[in-house]
Amino acid sequence: MFSREWVFYVFGRWVIMSGIAGAMVQFLFSDIIGIHTIPAFLLNQFCLACVFWYVDKLIFKRHFKETLSNFFRFPRIKTAYGFTEQFDKIKQEFNDFKTKMAGSEDKPGIWLNEFVDFEHSVEMMERLLRERKIDVDKEYENVRDENLERGYYFDKEILKKTETEKKGHKVFLEALSKDVLLADGAMGTYLTTKGFDASICCESLNLTDSETVKKVHEEYIEAGAKIIETNTFAANKFKLAEYGLADKVREINLAGARIAKESSEGRVFVAGSVGPLGRSISPYGELSLVEAHNAFMEQIQAIIDGDVDIIMLETMASFLEAKEAVLVCREIADIPIICQVTFTDEGKTVYGDKLAESFEELKRLGADVVGLNCSLGPRKMLELLKSIPNSFTGMVSVQPNAGLPRYRDGSSEYSVNPEYFREYAEHFKNSGVNIIGGCCGTTPAHIKEMAKVVSGPPVKRRCEIKYATNPDQKG
Ligand SMILES: [Zn+2]
Repeated sequence: MFSREWVFYVFGRWVIMSGIAGAMVQFLFSDIIGIHTIPAFLLNQFCLACVFWYVDKLIFKRHFKETLSNFFRFPRIKTAYGFTEQFDKIKQEFNDFKTKMAGSEDKPGIWLNEFVDFEHSVEMMERLLRERKIDVDKEYENVRDENLERGYYFDKEILKKTETEKKGHKVFLEALSKDVLLADGAMGTYLTTKGFDASICCESLNLTDSETVKKVHEEYIEAGAKIIETNTFAANKFKLAEYGLADKVREINLAGARIAKESSEGRVFVAGSVGPLGRSISPYGELSLVEAHNAFMEQIQAIIDGDVDIIMLETMASFLEAKEAVLVCREIADIPIICQVTFTDEGKTVYGDKLAESFEELKRLGADVVGLNCSLGPRKMLELLKSIPNSFTGMVSVQPNAGLPRYRDGSSEYSVNPEYFREYAEHFKNSGVNIIGGCCGTTPAHIKEMAKVVSGPPVKRRCEIKYATNPDQKG
């Protein structure tokens, strides 16, 4: 009936603490107050048990309220109610939990036990959705109006924007169907070549030195970029917390979007840059999916409110995290999504996710363009690109690094020159890439060279490299 955790947590603590305190009371006061050793000990145990019971109840109630509000704020979960068997089951589990709670108000240990199960279910629900390839977006569409009417999650203001976003979505996809688009190069590493200290919070410049950020955007536009990225890559609450700026997430992202919009003057597409959260998601790390979801939600909502044209999810080393970010974008708005994952030269993420499967899944979840960026240089990236199977029919983007960094005098230098980038930009174009840009170490000089070759209609992609995974497999 009670788990081992329950025994350790509640009962064990109570026995040990009350034992120690009881012995002290007995030793110090039994002579003075004149009561007998055993009654004094029992009285003391009883008092302590009451205190622990009350404190447990308070802690639990607070924690429970928080998780419950997360639970009900998840439109994907609510959406799934009544649509699929497994969610009815979890709903049932939740109701059982409530019933048990009602009948055991004096037993926080039982609540705790049941609650851990329930909390786990909420996370499992998220995983089930993805693993069972449920088309959540479609389901969500079905109940979207209903949700709106009930007043949760989507507010009226966001709905009003949806029409223009839909138009924007079409404009971007049309542009991509006609032309290969050139994206810009790096922001952070380029600023360090301009003399900025690499240890500063690059994104905070949106508030403190918007002119410099604007200047970089303008340089890239002049160099020929057709897509510029906002200076918001690491502006999530976890990364900003490292600089004591966790409460500035919204401000920094809004400012980043505004600066890029101003620089673009409507000439180029503005992509809101969103990088990884900087923490591993469970089961690889401590961060729960709910926490990751909420952190992405906070950042991406601010960027979208800043009126960007596209969301650019990039440098995602964890496929799980990339998927979460795509789902968050899709929840907020109908906005074009580019999702770029960082692979090792073996064609896997550091968590072991394979390239072909990741691309297919990200596309299915709603990414309009799927791609590779960072970590690798152009040559290796081209090789990986050619290994994407023909069965993948989505659009593809690449943003390689300018080679690997060499550290000199505390700063990093990148070895690959603009001419080399031009050469590879041409290879990328001929291999069927739809968006070509640069990552760490690239500068407006790189983009300028690439602009000479990146234009014209996209080429059909063809798989040229096949990794032999199974000797029995043909081809
Ligand atoms: Zn990079």
